[in-house]
Amino acid sequence: MAALASTISRPNLLQAIDRNELSVAFQPQLTADGQSVASVEALLRWRLPDGGFISPEIAVAHAEREGLIDMVGLYVLQQACTAARAWPGLVLAVNISPTHFAKPGFVDDVARVLDATWFPANRLEIEIVESAAFDDPDHASRQIERLHAIGARVAMDDFGTGYSSLSLLQRLPFDKVKIDKSFVDGIPATRSVAILHAMIALVRALGMKVTAEGVETVEQQRFLKAAGCHYLQGFLYARPLPAESVPAFLDKYRPKPR
Ligand code: C2E
Ligand code: MG
Ligand code: MG
Repeated sequence: MAALASTISRPNLLQAIDRNELSVAFQPQLTADGQSVASVEALLRWRLPDGGFISPEIAVAHAEREGLIDMVGLYVLQQACTAARAWPGLVLAVNISPTHFAKPGFVDDVARVLDATWFPANRLEIEIVESAAFDDPDHASRQIERLHAIGARVAMDDFGTGYSSLSLLQRLPFDKVKIDKSFVDGIPATRSVAILHAMIALVRALGMKVTAEGVETVEQQRFLKAAGCHYLQGFLYARPLPAESVPAFLDKYRPKPR
């Protein structure tokens, strides 16, 4: 059962980090043909000693409020890089909150974690939501350029749920756009299909990669592949996995010797 948001305080969060109650799960993202694993997305998990859990959205909101979001963000980044170092060739996607992304020292912190964990920058993809760029697009653009300069990539997460500002897509050099699950859920309804076709075509025309999130059925997979998505992520393929289960999942997709 998820714990009530009101029970989380600054000391709880600090104690949770201390007591190793936080961990990171990894959800595979596949190429649209379903044949290979392109990347894994790191997702924060907070398990309480009584067996309950706190959802990542609530944990992140509280970390923001308590001024601990840098600590939590860097914790996830460090844990994820350490685990993913053992999965050669796989891209690692890490969610970063808008407050953390906006901090002047953010990219230096990322570079430090990459150095400390020996994780190659060209396998790191930072995911930010649209609101991270909305207030100050120029600053967001500079942060993306700094991430590019150290070799990392940047994806816009949950596209379609915020302001869906086309000017942000025009101005910001994202490498990838992730289309929110709410649109995928609507397949095959005419309106959802029309919006998905337009979004995928737009993102592709801008030279960016497209991932669809929350793919749960073969019908959705077939539509999204035919519509031009590059990558798919969802329970159809895998739920978020503990780090120790990732190698066995990757093995299933490794080309078999003839
Ligand atoms: P997100 O970044 O969009 O991550 C995808 C979420 O969708 C994950 O939920 C994942 O478990 C869920 N999901 C993926 N495929 C399916 C599907 O087929 N069906 C359904 N029903 N759900 C699916 P999760 O792990 O609960 O994370 C929720 C959100 O919390 C994330 O959305 C992200 O915004 C935030 N979050 C998670 N970890 C972190 C973190 O380390 N840092 C920050 N800043 N935010 C995080
Ligand atoms: Mg994400
Ligand atoms: Mg998302």
